[in-house]
Amino acid sequence: MKPLVEITNLVKYFDIGSNQRVHAVDDVSFSIYPKEVVGLVGESGSGKSTLGKTLLGLHDKTSGSISFAGKQLPQRYQAKDFRAMAPKMQMIFQDPYSSLNPRMTVGEIIAEGLRLQPELSTSDVQERVLHWLSLVGLSPVHQSRYPHEFSGGQRQRIGIARALILQPEFVVCDEPISALDVSVQAQVVNLLGELTQDLGLTLLFIAHDLSMVRYISDRMAVMYLGALVEVGSSSEVFFDPKHPYTETLIASNPEADPEHERRRPSTTIQGEIPSPVNVPAGCRFANRCPQAMAHCSSITPPLKPVSSEPQAAKTPRLVACHLYD
Ligand code: SF4
Repeated sequence: MKPLVEITNLVKYFDIGSNQRVHAVDDVSFSIYPKEVVGLVGESGSGKSTLGKTLLGLHDKTSGSISFAGKQLPQRYQAKDFRAMAPKMQMIFQDPYSSLNPRMTVGEIIAEGLRLQPELSTSDVQERVLHWLSLVGLSPVHQSRYPHEFSGGQRQRIGIARALILQPEFVVCDEPISALDVSVQAQVVNLLGELTQDLGLTLLFIAHDLSMVRYISDRMAVMYLGALVEVGSSSEVFFDPKHPYTETLIASNPEADPEHERRRPSTTIQGEIPSPVNVPAGCRFANRCPQAMAHCSSITPPLKPVSSEPQAAKTPRLVACHLYD
């Protein structure tokens, strides 16, 4: 099967003056297949959101390429590129409070993207808005209200309707549940999971909560300091992590069972994450890795297959670590 999204050697640096640059995304390559949900995890500052935004053209690429359905996307988006890609690629934002215009009614917010389809009549637009309100679990009366009249979970439902009304093929969900109360996180993830199945969507689901990512994703990609360190099926990565960083990340994930959680030994990652301005040579995790070897600080481990039969798997297990040389 051909990938829907193919990322090749993607680099995104931010210039911060004095000849210094933040290495937010550094030489990332991977593919996302049609109707696949890929979870992207990592600590804050690992570059997950920058990667998602660069995929949609919200940041210009520094170098590398992104193709969508076999077509190369532009290095720098112009207004016409956004108009062309909006019906195909959309984003659900992290903060449902700041991502909705407080001066627009919910109906206007959800219908905003339909302006790209001038052939639709007013009644067609109205019909679609009502359909999407119902799909995300809101009622027709909500269309005339304003965002401040809704709870966080309801606002995220509005954000989901706004992103999906154009029926995009690919959606980047940028930490869509992290600003929500724990009690409504599962509801929003369930809604996203159902819509993904029903509409045949392809998702890049960015999140901190590994349990949620495992629940919704087919594959999981782990990012550390701007680079991918492990990619594999969600169950493989979650239950049999290979990279020492993934192991620590999963071991520090809170357990649902409070009794088990109390008895579990504490597993915090030691040391500080290096500055993305001065990225260390060799393995980026070396200063925190309990299994570091002498050459880890000088030789960069490439992301490569570790499966014994890589050709047999549709998407081989990939790990960037000298333990698997
Ligand atoms: Fe640890 Fe070395 Fe593997 Fe990096 S390459 S994760 S330092 S063992």
